Amino acid sequence: MNNVSLERRNKILERDNYACQKCSFSSPNGKGLEIHHIISKVSGGKNSDLNLMILCSVCHRHAPDNEKDFKEFISDKIDGNLLETFRKSDYSISKKTKLGMIESFKKGLHITKAPRGYQLVNKKLIVNESGAKNVKDIFEEFLNTNTSLTQIAKKHNLTTSGLKKLLMNTTYLGKVKFANEESQGEHISIIDEDLFKSVQNKLGKIG
Ligand SMILES: [Zn+2]
Repeated sequence: MNNVSLERRNKILERDNYACQKCSFSSPNGKGLEIHHIISKVSGGKNSDLNLMILCSVCHRHAPDNEKDFKEFISDKIDGNLLETFRKSDYSISKKTKLGMIESFKKGLHITKAPRGYQLVNKKLIVNESGAKNVKDIFEEFLNTNTSLTQIAKKHNLTTSGLKKLLMNTTYLGKVKFANEESQGEHISIIDEDLFKSVQNKLGKIG
């Protein structure tokens, strides 16, 4: 068996304060927490301290399996309380709960930080006019000029990776997303589908 030894499991639990590193769900006896392999065992990931992290069962299930996406996933913190419905659904999931989950998705209840162009008011994403204009400008500038990502980022006070993230953020289409699941949100879109698609095409070309 190449499972994580009990000794190592306890060591990692202690290191991570018996809490999920994404949503902060904590459990002093370790129940509901999982040892997550950042690089999966199937892909050759080891049972080493660096490759192991404590996640709750929900975040564990939703975590992307490649390292790069995982870093992004983990840096995007969410409030564990908002995952309660998901946590319960791990054990038994009724139709009603499932609908409730979808509803809270749509309302964006899992969102803790508004992306540029929006502000969070009572857990709802409200368009911020000047921010939204700025986001639109950025999309159009990227699509219609040959200005490099680095230059556009600098101009708009973003890092290059922050800019890429912004250009790929489907929130601007009015969608809400938790890990890999996406649905139509209740907030107003800032970018129309055509512009968004063209930008994804261009991003794909420059790699
Ligand atoms: Zn979690």
